[in-house]
Amino acid sequence: MSESSLTCEQLIRKAVARIDSETPRLDVELIMESVTGWSRTSLRAWPERTLSDEQLAEFGHRVAQRAAGRPIAHILGEQAFWSLPLMVSDATLIPRPDTERLVETALDLPLAADARVLDLGTGTGAIALALASEKPTWQIVACDAVPAAVELARANARRLELLLEVTRSHWFDDLPPGRFDLIVSNPPYIAADDRHLREGDVRFEPATALVAGVEGLDDLRHIICEAPGWLSSGGWLLVEHGYDQGSAVRELFEAAGLVDVSTIRDYGGQPRLTRGRLPLS
Ligand code: GLN
Repeated sequence: MSESSLTCEQLIRKAVARIDSETPRLDVELIMESVTGWSRTSLRAWPERTLSDEQLAEFGHRVAQRAAGRPIAHILGEQAFWSLPLMVSDATLIPRPDTERLVETALDLPLAADARVLDLGTGTGAIALALASEKPTWQIVACDAVPAAVELARANARRLELLLEVTRSHWFDDLPPGRFDLIVSNPPYIAADDRHLREGDVRFEPATALVAGVEGLDDLRHIICEAPGWLSSGGWLLVEHGYDQGSAVRELFEAAGLVDVSTIRDYGGQPRLTRGRLPLS
């Protein structure tokens, strides 16, 4: 039987068998939806529909990419974060659901309506845009060292019609002088020899967004040391880190003179965020 006489459901089943992923059925349904424009619900309601030759070719192409390990977000060109549809590219990290916990934690801080907020290493713009969508009166600046990420974050802001200033800067190095009431960052924090770098989606993401020296602490150390010079009196620093880096990161916060330091768990119960603030002067 030729492929063109197969129904959607038959095509999906054949494709699922080729894909080594934790969620093969979901991945293939998302690919089918992206190729045909038929929602996943309608695919289930009308499983006997067939594809045009053009759709069939595109479906085959995208399934082959997924079978080769390419992240589903790269194939679809999009990833939802904080319910915002964000464009993604291979220039930067694909936003992770765990990072939504950082957004929640930031929103819980006692900040003024016109708070000045900085997102260091914004990538797609995920954290900054989620904050902008919740707090339209905050003055949010996002930066990234990678020009393609700066362009991507700006494009996401335009598409979502959210106000966000995005500038190119390697951490604080190229920022105009200023003070912030909150600095957030999801920097690279994976150790260079971590075996996870050879598995799953991270194989297709840039090392610049993932890897930070032998212990994974190089960028965190740099950000935490410099932050006090960029925080307003009583201003907060909030960073994401690896599940086993909590105590090292708290020590770095305290060594930098930050107070009220605490570590917060992610949705999986792992200690993955640390926050602290500059003492009131
Ligand atoms: N949490 C991501 C992962 O483990 C890494 C994110 C980062 O390095 N900032 O894939």
